[in-house]
Amino acid sequence: MGDSTNNSGWTSYNVPIIKFSNGAGPTVLVLGGNHGDEYEGQIAASSLAHQLDLNQVQGRIIIIPCLSQEASRAGTRLWPDGSNFNRVFPGNENGKLSEKLAHYLSSFLFPICDGVLDMHSGGRSMHFIPSSNMTWVSELTQRTKMINNMLAWNTDFHMVGLEQAGTNPYSLLNRNAEQQGKSVSTGEFGGSGYTTPESIKIIKDGLLNFLKAFGVLRGLPETRESLGLKPAEIIFLGPAGFISATHHGIYENCVRLGADIEVGDVVGKIHDFDHHNVAPIELLSKISGVVAVIRGFPPITIGDVVCVVGKKLNSLAEMEKVAG
Ligand SMILES: [Zn+2]
Repeated sequence: MGDSTNNSGWTSYNVPIIKFSNGAGPTVLVLGGNHGDEYEGQIAASSLAHQLDLNQVQGRIIIIPCLSQEASRAGTRLWPDGSNFNRVFPGNENGKLSEKLAHYLSSFLFPICDGVLDMHSGGRSMHFIPSSNMTWVSELTQRTKMINNMLAWNTDFHMVGLEQAGTNPYSLLNRNAEQQGKSVSTGEFGGSGYTTPESIKIIKDGLLNFLKAFGVLRGLPETRESLGLKPAEIIFLGPAGFISATHHGIYENCVRLGADIEVGDVVGKIHDFDHHNVAPIELLSKISGVVAVIRGFPPITIGDVVCVVGKKLNSLAEMEKVAG
């Protein structure tokens, strides 16, 4: 993309894109680094590009390991210009670099793809249960494909959600691709701004199985059953499960990821180290459920989401009732 900076009047901004194309088959777009400080997806996408054998591909796999390069290098969620890449869709070809890149994805890449894969994690500020996820789209054929995508990751948990309140849903990458009728798969594979061998194994294994299940990579996909695993937990993330900080301070997680908790359980405490006469403030869960997200980075300000409690569903059919 053309750019102009204080140091280079005429320059270009380059985003590496790797394409594997081999005969007939679907086209899948694999995306990492939508947010800069979410490294699991960047590592998985880059590793895939290094490891893929073209003979194993049937169709086309297009990989962008890191959408938000400068943010990734800086260890930040947002671009240096303040852009949240996951809020600038459908983009603008004459806008800021982030908007130009979003426009390129939305106008050129999404239209040629059957599947779009957008890998996230909690970044520095949050930590998610590793899970492949989806939004509950209304169109049934598309939804069925997206359910299959989600299950193909074979993660222990899957999260299904509706729109985040107060956000234009179609400013998000995945929702923009969904609006174009694409079979979208997303996931949250950890967080806190670091990776572990466990989180990387989950995302790498899941990614390969997803590509096989989608039919763009040769080989029989595994299922949880074929792997000898019990069925995955399906979790609904709704507004009642979000717990936000009520004060500034330093946050202490009091529950572990994946724990089952009850209404009124203390999920965390806010400490005020400037006023030691003020007792730590306890934050309570408003619902019973499973701890899906905890805080990563302890310094918090009022309004920061510090914990999300999800509702366990017995089956995906229960989403019909939840989604109304
Ligand atoms: Zn993200």
